[in-house]
Amino acid sequence: MENLIKLLPDSVANQIAAGEVVQRPASVVKELVENAVDAGATTITVNIQEGGRELIQVIDNGCGISPGDTKMAFERHATSKITRADDLYALTTFGFRGEALASIVSVSEVELRTKRETDEVGLRMYVNGGAFGETSAVNIQNGTQLLVKNLFYNVPARRKFLKSKSVETKHIVDEFQRVALCNPNIEMNLYDNDTPRYKLPAATRRQRIVGMFGKHINAQLLDLQVETSIITIEGFVGHPQGAKKSGQAEQFLFVNNRFFKSPYFHKAVMAAYEKLIQPGVYPAYFLYLQVDPSRLDINIHPTKTEIKFEDETAIWQIINAAVRESLGKMGAVPLMDFDTQEPIDIPVFRPGSEQDIKIPPVSLNPDFNPFDRENESSPAQASAAGRTSRRSGSFLQHMTYGPDGMPEGWEELSKDGYDTFDPTTTPGETFRSFILDKEEPEDTELQEFISKGFDQQAPQDESWAEQGALEIESELSSGFFSYG
Ligand code: ADP
Ligand code: MG
Repeated sequence: MENLIKLLPDSVANQIAAGEVVQRPASVVKELVENAVDAGATTITVNIQEGGRELIQVIDNGCGISPGDTKMAFERHATSKITRADDLYALTTFGFRGEALASIVSVSEVELRTKRETDEVGLRMYVNGGAFGETSAVNIQNGTQLLVKNLFYNVPARRKFLKSKSVETKHIVDEFQRVALCNPNIEMNLYDNDTPRYKLPAATRRQRIVGMFGKHINAQLLDLQVETSIITIEGFVGHPQGAKKSGQAEQFLFVNNRFFKSPYFHKAVMAAYEKLIQPGVYPAYFLYLQVDPSRLDINIHPTKTEIKFEDETAIWQIINAAVRESLGKMGAVPLMDFDTQEPIDIPVFRPGSEQDIKIPPVSLNPDFNPFDRENESSPAQASAAGRTSRRSGSFLQHMTYGPDGMPEGWEELSKDGYDTFDPTTTPGETFRSFILDKEEPEDTELQEFISKGFDQQAPQDESWAEQGALEIESELSSGFFSYG
C-alpha cells in the first residue's frame, strides 16, 4: 500500500500553530507589545483600527532587527531569547517560543520596518500569509514598527467569528493594560481609530495606575510591601470603601513582570478583606510578585495566563498576611497577631534539606551540681561548668542554703507564685511578669543576666534559623498561620 504520511508545508503548520497563538486581535497586540518590551524599548505606541480587525500597528524604539535576521524572525521556533531548554528556567523576557511572528504572518498581511542604531537606513519588508514580498530601504527612527493588516483574511471562518468592534477593542485594552501596568518605566500610548485612548508617560507604578484608571484611584491605593526568602511582593491594595461590583474592580497579579491569573491567590487577597466589604463587591489590587524563575513554570500554553508556583501554599499565606498588614496600617482592621516592625519571614522548608540543619552545640558538665556550694564559691570551677555557670556565678551566689540543700525560703517563693506557670501566657510573658511584678532588691547582676542571658543562650549559628524555618513550615502546614 502506498505511504500516506507527509510532512505539512510550513505555511499550513504555521496556520495551525497560529490557531493557538493568535486567537483574536488582542493576541497580536500582546505579542507585539511584549516583543517591543523585550527589545528594550522606552516608548511603545499601539494603533488599532476597527478593534484590530483592519489594522494593528506597534511602534517601538527598541534595539531593532539586523537585516540578516529579518527573515529569520518570521520563521517558526526562531528566537533570539533562548538557546537551551535550561534557559526556560531562567527567563527574563516575555517571549521565548519564537512562534508569535511566524503565527501572525501566516494569518495576516504584515509590513515590518526596522532600524538599529548602527544602521544608516532602515529596512522595510512585506510578508503576506507567510510569503515574503519585496524588501526596500526606508527612513525611520531607530526601533521596530510592525503593521498587521486584515487579520484572518485567509482564514474566513476565523474572521467571521471575531466579535464586535467594541468587544475586540476591550480585549486589546486589557492586554495593553497588563503590559503597561508592569512596565511603568516605559512610555506607552494606545490610539483607537486615531483617537488617543491612553498616553502614559514613563512613571512610577502608582502614577501609572492613576494614569490608567483615573485620579480617583490614588487615594484608595494602600501600599503593600513584603520581602521573604521565597518571594518579594510589592504593590497596592484598594481601600475597602472603593470596592466595586464583580468585573469592575481593577485586580491584577504579576509575577516577574508578567500578568497572570490565579483564582487561588485571588482568594488569599479576598480572605483578608473578609468582614470589611459586603458580599458581591470586590476590592482593587495590584500585586507585583518577584520569585526565583526556577521556582515557576511558565512553559505552558502560549495564550494561557496561569502560572505554576512551587511554593504555592506558603505564598498564599504570605499574600494574605501582607494584605492584612496593609489594611491594618490604614486602620481598616486592627493590626493583629504580632507586633512586629518587619514583616515576618517565612522561609520554605524543602524536603531533603534536613541534612543542612545543624544541631546547636551544647556543652554539658556532667559533674556540675548547682547546689554544690563549694562549686558556687569557686569562679574557676563555675566557668568550667559552661553556660550554667552564669547562673551559679550570679544570683544564686547571693542565696543561703538550708540543711536540705535547698535555697532558704524557697517554699515562700513557691507560695508567692514565682514558679507557677500560666499556660495561657507565652514563656516570655511569664518571665517578664516575674521580673516586673516582684519587688526584688536592686540586683544589677541579676538584671544583666536577664537581659543578656536569653540572647546568649540562643545559639548564634544559622542552624537555629533553619530550625525555626522547619517549625514555621510545620505550623504552616498545620494551619497555624491561618487568620480565620
Ligand atoms: P520570541 O519573542 O518568542 O523570541 P517572536 O516570534 O515573537 O518570538 O520573535 C522572534 C524574534 O524576532 C525575537 O526573538 C527577536 O529577536 C525578534 N523581534 C521580534 N520583535 C522585535 C522587536 N520589536 N524588536 C526587536 N526584535 C524583535
Ligand atoms: Mg515574542
